[in-house]
This record gives sequence, C-alpha cells and structure tokens, in this order.
Amino acid sequence: MKLKYLGTAAAEAVPAPFCRCGVCERAREKGGRNVRTRSQALLDGRLLIDFPADTYLHALREGLRLYDISSCIITHCHSDHLYPGDLWCLISYAAHGKERPFNLYGTGAVLEMVKAQCEDLEQIIKEGGLCLHEIRPFEPFEAEGYRITALKADHGAPESVVYALEDPEGKAMLYAHDTGLLPGESLEYIKKSGIKFSLVSYDCTNGLLEHGERNHMGLNADIKLRDMLRELGAIGEGCVHVVNHFSHNGGGAGYDEMEPAARERDFLTSYDGLEVEF
Ligand SMILES: [Zn+2]
Ligand SMILES: [Zn+2]
Ligand SMILES: [Zn+2]
Repeated sequence: MKLKYLGTAAAEAVPAPFCRCGVCERAREKGGRNVRTRSQALLDGRLLIDFPADTYLHALREGLRLYDISSCIITHCHSDHLYPGDLWCLISYAAHGKERPFNLYGTGAVLEMVKAQCEDLEQIIKEGGLCLHEIRPFEPFEAEGYRITALKADHGAPESVVYALEDPEGKAMLYAHDTGLLPGESLEYIKKSGIKFSLVSYDCTNGLLEHGERNHMGLNADIKLRDMLRELGAIGEGCVHVVNHFSHNGGGAGYDEMEPAARERDFLTSYDGLEVEF
C-alpha cells in the first residue's frame, strides 16, 4: 500500500490565516514542510480519505486527475475534513467527460451535512455524478478493493469515526484522525478482528503539549495508543508509525521542532506531500 499525505493540518491550517503566533510566523518565513494544508490523504492513488476545502489545492499541487478518482471515505463532519460545497462541481456541466460517479462514504451525520450544504444535490445524484453511501461503525464495507471498517473515535463531532483499511494482500493500515485515545469498543473490535497494521497514522493535534488524550492527541498520547495497540497484538512487524494532523497550538512546535522529537520515539512526522510505502 502507498499512502500519500495531501494535507496534514487541523482546521485552521499552518499558518492559520489570521494568526500571528510564533508557529504561524515561522511557517510563513521558512515555508516548506512547516506549511500545512487541511487534512486529506490518498491511498494507492485511488481512494481519497476526507474532502476538505483544500482538495482543490491538493489536486493542483499534486497533479491529481480527480475525475479518475471514484471513491472517498469521510471521517467526520468538521470543515477540515469535509467541505460539501465543492461536491457541487460534480454537476454535469461542471464535469464534462466524467465517466463514473464519485462515491462518497460517511456516517449519517456526514451525509446530512452533504445534503444541507451541497447545492443541486438531487440533480447531481440523478445525473450519476455522485453516489452517497451510509456507513456504520463496526460494519465493514468494500470500496476500491479494500475492506474498510469504521471504528468509533473519541472526538467532538457527531458520529466521528476512524478507519481500518485492509487490501487483498493482507496489508492493513489504521487512519486515526481526529480522535483521542480510541474508545474501548474500538480497541475491542481491533483485538477480535485479529488485524495487524503495517501503518498507523496517529492524530497529533496537541503536538508536544504534555496533556491531551481526549478529543485529539499529542505525541505523549500517541505513544500510549501505540503501546495499547501493541498489547492487543495489532501491530505487525515493521509497522510504520506516523504522527499527523497538526495545529499551531501544539506546544509551539512546527515541523522543524516536531520531527526530531517524534523521530526519537520512532515516529515519522507527516508533511504535505509525504508518501509512505508499506
Ligand atoms: Zn481535523
Ligand atoms: Zn498561529
Ligand atoms: Zn475534527
């Protein structure tokens, strides 16, 4: 499997548009990996994870042909993960030559948000531009050849989930954004399923702050979650551990401060454009 991080920030991005804090000002000065757009990832070039407003920017920057990507799974209905307004671009006169519908998978809360905020939705669906699929925690479904299971997250948006994804060769990854330490139900499910992850992507919104295990995590909670997953037997040999989804409120850490601290504890630090093969 190959995971490409398209956007790696929390809701306000780094630098945040109206912010003069040290992290944001340093990101403006230094640029490069210190600049982060809103959260999105692409698995094996064919499955999108989340659909923020920065999707358009990601497509331009990475040269993505979005008309060739037919499936997208949504974690939850915060604006850095779902921006329904741009799904309107699937309407026939804005998407010439698009042959297959765009399949969007999300919980009831996600689909409600799409229905409320995407203009001309009925027409787009009738024309075959968009297909909405309601998913539920702990009920695996298939998309793009993956077996995908939503697991309950500990997060402040209704019906937030994280995803376990398995490919036909038996590789698996856990995409754990946005969440605090996973709820017992989700850990129990992972244990029972016998799944062994080759990559785990950990929420790290709190960065180097010492506290924070609920709603979001920081490096300390990530270490704790990794230990919990190990204890369940869910970490495969050679598993890659990535910290991702950063904010300017993470104890003053931009990429340049985060990376050495994370490396010392055997985590990769994500940045926009990072590609990991596992
Ligand atoms: Zn987020
Ligand atoms: Zn800031
Ligand atoms: Zn969120």
